[in-house]
Amino acid sequence: MDFKKYKLFRSIARAAVAVHEKVTTIKGKITKCFSQEAIYKPGGKAGEYAKYACSIYVGCPAECDYCYRNDPPLATAIGGSVVRLKDGLKSESNAIETYFQELFGGNGGKVRPALLRYGIFFTFTSDPGLPQTFPMVAALIAETVKLHVPVQILTKFTGWMDSEIWQDLQSIPELKQHLAIGFTLTGHDDREPGASPNAKRIDALKRAHKDGFRTFSSIEPIIDEESSYLSVLWCSDFVDLFLVGLQSHRKYDQTELQAFVNDLAAIPSKPYIYLKDSLVEQLGRTRESYGANFVNSDFTPFNV
Ligand code: SF4
Repeated sequence: MDFKKYKLFRSIARAAVAVHEKVTTIKGKITKCFSQEAIYKPGGKAGEYAKYACSIYVGCPAECDYCYRNDPPLATAIGGSVVRLKDGLKSESNAIETYFQELFGGNGGKVRPALLRYGIFFTFTSDPGLPQTFPMVAALIAETVKLHVPVQILTKFTGWMDSEIWQDLQSIPELKQHLAIGFTLTGHDDREPGASPNAKRIDALKRAHKDGFRTFSSIEPIIDEESSYLSVLWCSDFVDLFLVGLQSHRKYDQTELQAFVNDLAAIPSKPYIYLKDSLVEQLGRTRESYGANFVNSDFTPFNV
C-alpha cells in the first residue's frame, strides 16, 4: 500500500473540503455538481446495497468467475482485471475534486442532506481494498467521515488492514462511528482466485468487530447453500448485517433454497439478514414471514 500516495490524496481532499465549506452559492454550476461522475445512484441489484455509491476506479484482479462487471453491456466500461480510472475522470486529483464537488453539490457549503442520511458505498466497479485503490479510498473515507457522512466499504481483500494507511486512518475520532466494514463470503476460494481467502476475510470481520466497527457481509452469490449457511452461522456473533443474494442467470432448486432460508431463520442468535429481491421472488414469501430479524433494504449496519 502506497502511504505517500495516500498522504498526497488526503492533502488534496482536505483542500477540496476547505474550498467547498467556504462556498455558499454555486450559481451556474449545478449541472456539474450533479454530474454523478464519482458519486452516483446505483441501479438494479447494486441499488439494494446502497442509495449512493462512489466509483473512481474500474477493473479488479480478483478474477471471480461470476463477476457482474464482466457481463455485457458493462464489460467495456468496467470489466477486466486491470485497475484504471473510470472514464470521465481525468486524473486522480481531478477524481478527488469531482468527488467533493458532488458531495457538497452546491448545498451552501454543507454536505447534501441525502448523502448525510443515506451515506456512500465503496464500490461496485472495482474492489476498494486493493493496493491500487485503497490509498484513494482511504483518503476519501478520511475526509468524508469527518463530515459525519456514513460510509460502507465492501471488499474481498484483507491486506489493507495491516497497512500503515489503515493505522493512520484509525486515528480519526469519527471513523468508528461512521465507517461500516464489509467482506463478501461465498466459501469458494476456487471461484475467486485473486482475492484473499474466505478464512482470512472471516478473521478480518472478527477483528473489525473487536476494534469497535460496524460490520456486514455480502453472502452473494450463493454458490452452494451449505457454504452460504455456514458463512452466516460462523460469523453471526461478529457481523451486524448479512445481505444474501442469488447468482445472476443461474437456476436454483426451489426446495433447496427454501430449506436454506429456513436454516438461516433457525440460527439461535437471530442475526440481521437482508434477502435480496430476486431471492424473495423465488421463495414466494415475504421477508418478515421468516422472522423480525429479516430486514428490508433500508436497514443498514448503522441501524444496529
Ligand atoms: S472482487 Fe468483486 S469486483 Fe473484483 S472480480 Fe470479484 S466480484 Fe468482481
